[in-house]
Amino acid sequence: MTDDVPAEATQPPTPVHLRAALAALPVYAPGRPAAVRDGLTAYKISSNENPFPPLPSVLEVVRDAATAMNRYPDMAVTALTRALADRLGVPAARISTGPGSVGVLDQLIRATCDDGDEVVFAWRSFEAYPILTTLAGARPVMVPLAPGARHDLDAMADAVTDRTRLVLVCTPNNPTGTTVGADELDAFLDRVPADVLVVIDEAYLEFVDAPDAPDAMAVHAARPNVVVLRTFSKAYGLAGLRVGYAVAHEPVAEALRKSALPFGVNSLAQAAAVASLDAADELDVRVKELVAERERVVAALRDQGWDIPEQQANFVWFDLGDDTAAFAAACEDEGLTVRPYLTDGVRATIAEPPANDRLVEVAGRFLAARRG
Ligand SMILES: *Cc1c(COP(=O)(O)O)cnc(C)c1O
Repeated sequence: MTDDVPAEATQPPTPVHLRAALAALPVYAPGRPAAVRDGLTAYKISSNENPFPPLPSVLEVVRDAATAMNRYPDMAVTALTRALADRLGVPAARISTGPGSVGVLDQLIRATCDDGDEVVFAWRSFEAYPILTTLAGARPVMVPLAPGARHDLDAMADAVTDRTRLVLVCTPNNPTGTTVGADELDAFLDRVPADVLVVIDEAYLEFVDAPDAPDAMAVHAARPNVVVLRTFSKAYGLAGLRVGYAVAHEPVAEALRKSALPFGVNSLAQAAAVASLDAADELDVRVKELVAERERVVAALRDQGWDIPEQQANFVWFDLGDDTAAFAAACEDEGLTVRPYLTDGVRATIAEPPANDRLVEVAGRFLAARRG
């Protein structure tokens, strides 16, 4: 279960004291840039980025903000917090922003966990979870996914102990693309003790169209121990600027603001996020196009004979087992950089239609060759 976290120290020798927790950590593996190949447009479809360039209206606001980069950003992130509160219909005191939702998640772990406390999450799920947990001195409790690459919420509830401080529910799940159902989430939350914080990580919320998906904001409103985590990196295309947020009940939101790095959300990110909320209708058109592409790709892959689970984000999950590295290499040969996960599978981002077409072609050839 912990195959990404080598138990042995891997640090180069140094007389300097470094925390033991660091030796147990893998180096975060970001999606690689696409390999350059003759006569072939290369596509990096390994990081779930938005293929659309920034909207002109957003870019203009960022250019303006850049003229004041000699000044510190607004530490209270006032305009963005107010804009989010208006849009989501919650008091501004319930919103806490950070440098990407990964930054906010780091604050959540640090605000809840002492040394040796436990953080429960599904596995496979987002790679940052075990890293941030271990870095904070807490213990990752990784609960295997159920068949269909879905969260096993019963097993996750069973895994909660009196050391558990945080449970992370990633829906849609990165990298498998599946969502949890509204009813099963409610049943799960009924079983989690009230003093354990549950984070619903909705990094891909905008791409969801499953009718039984939970309304996380309503769940948050009804339960004091539920936090909703969201980002501007994926659907809204601001990955390079780093801004995300949590919606949490006031005491938790206040703890997050206390544990935040000062000035963590830079001025360009703040301005771009506000401008993106103003341009939500335009951005939602792009999101709909990506969702339509996802449906087209998934249908084509299933026609070829691939067993693809329900997909609700901006990527596709291939459950490949021992063929994972071979499939990633076949993609690389055709100018597609995908994200392989050891011997579990490959995640490929839905991108421009020509990249998606090529992915379907490569996958079709790979399956035919595998069947001999
Ligand atoms: C991409 C992603 C995030 C957040 O990304 P940021 O760029 O740090 O906002 C959070 N959770 C999951 C599951 C993701 O895939």
